Amino acid sequence: MIYDVIIIGGGVIGCSIARTLSKYNLKIALLEKEADIASGTTKANSGVVHAGYAAERQYIKRNLCIRGNELYTQAAKELNFPFKRIGSFVVALEDEQIKDLEEKKKQGTEDGIPGLEVILDKKKILEMEPNLTDQVVGVLHAPSAGIVSPYELTFALAENAAMNGVQFFRNQEVIKILHRDYVFTIHARGSIYKSNNLINAAGLYADKISKMLGLDYFSILPRKGEYILFDKNALQLSKILFPMPTKVSKGILVCPTVHGNIFVGPNAQNITDIEDISTTEAGLKEVLEGGRTLVPNLPLRASIRNFAGLRAVPDSYDFIIDNTDIYGFINVAGILSPGLTSCFAIAEKVVDYLELLGVELKVKENYNPYRPKPERFKDFTKQELDKKIKADPKWGKIICRCETVSEHEIIEAIHAPVGARTIDGVKFRCRPGMGRCQGGFCTPRVVEILSRELNIPYHQITKRGDDTHVLVGLTKEFLLEENEKEEKEK
Ligand SMILES: Cc1cc2nc3c(=O)[nH]c(=O)nc-3n(C[C@H](O)[C@H](O)[C@H](O)COP(=O)(O)OP(=O)(O)OC[C@H]3O[C@@H](n4cnc5c(N)ncnc54)[C@H](O)[C@@H]3O)c2cc1C
Repeated sequence: MIYDVIIIGGGVIGCSIARTLSKYNLKIALLEKEADIASGTTKANSGVVHAGYAAERQYIKRNLCIRGNELYTQAAKELNFPFKRIGSFVVALEDEQIKDLEEKKKQGTEDGIPGLEVILDKKKILEMEPNLTDQVVGVLHAPSAGIVSPYELTFALAENAAMNGVQFFRNQEVIKILHRDYVFTIHARGSIYKSNNLINAAGLYADKISKMLGLDYFSILPRKGEYILFDKNALQLSKILFPMPTKVSKGILVCPTVHGNIFVGPNAQNITDIEDISTTEAGLKEVLEGGRTLVPNLPLRASIRNFAGLRAVPDSYDFIIDNTDIYGFINVAGILSPGLTSCFAIAEKVVDYLELLGVELKVKENYNPYRPKPERFKDFTKQELDKKIKADPKWGKIICRCETVSEHEIIEAIHAPVGARTIDGVKFRCRPGMGRCQGGFCTPRVVEILSRELNIPYHQITKRGDDTHVLVGLTKEFLLEENEKEEKEK
């Protein structure tokens, strides 16, 4: 079969494009090299839906961020992913910085960002955010900024796309692409796919995909950002707190998550290894120091995890969204921050490009933009839970005590469209292992459930695909063998 469109890369960008295109009468497939979607940059970032004042006006990422932010309201209603518009502060600690805030406000307001205001009244600022340093002299308040769970957004996009007919193929690393007679032949780990149009949304690897077709006009370099995550309720923040930005980044922020944790990070380190997501002592110290300039009482003893993410930085420092010289091949590359914010606007742009290519975009009669909200144990009242448990006792079996996740939720996550196949797949969909003990109690139980539901042996269950097995054999296998021998001899 020849697809109308194939998308390479199952990050937030590839999945957003897939979901937007799923509206039309097209045969679409998405190829992802990892065992699950949302395994690249989309998995580890700040999860901020930016207001859009940060990038300079010459960059297309500025307009796409402002438009993308707007589109979140409708998308969150349709797709039911966790999103809260809590607003952000850019914090000035010196009087000279106020004119920068005023300039950002002026330009941002001209460009249509709603509600921007510079607040200089310290009492008011500290009422709005009591944990902020009392060294503050002023803030730029952006009420339209928000927080989102980037991977839950991506799963929602993929589920809705799959409901509307998009086919997802995981463990499919694209290694070679040929283009002949207006058809792309895509080789991926032993399988071959054919398509009339090809969209490259391969994140850190997008330059390599482009080069497979002989297009060598940009390169991508990884820039690492490290984070420290704190336990839930260790400290409550009501705003996203940014320092004054630097030339290379928006700086080290202190921010709540949609699940009630807070985090501090990221720093910005240019590196050469595209796979290096290690955290370092120096990096974490830098992050902590940066965070403390905004929130001096960061509760370090309540930190539960460190992690790092890699920005895909293009040489132009701007998004590359191109109808290339190869007919039907669209690069969506160099999607650094604010890519998460811009994902819906980027998908709109890709639709425009496909239209320019003459692809017939006829809306499906049975298109359904809604993805039901996954039910969560912790959202129910006692009475509701009683009913649920009566209908299915697995609602009453708590697998993850830190995050109060029931067996029912894990089974749902496995059997959802584009469902979980790995321990991390379950963790990122419904949170067992995300809490204080970081999976110490629940991992063996999650392995058991995955094994039972997918009908595969324990030792084949992996943390995140390939050789990330957590079980290598039975520790008391020799005893079983001895037993069997004895039984036979009797
Ligand atoms: C530290 C940090 C903080 C950030 N904070 C924010 C923020 O607060 N707000 C915001 O708006 N943006 C933020 N961003 C940016 C945002 O995370 C990215 O723009 C977004 O996640 C990019 O998504 P993507 O789909 O392009 O890339 P990815 O998520 O990396 O997806 C690309 C996918 O392609 C797959 N792939 C690669 N090669 C192949 C191949 N050969 N075959 C098949 N599949 C392949 C990969 O496995 C991957 O899953 C941040 C980024 C970082 C690193």
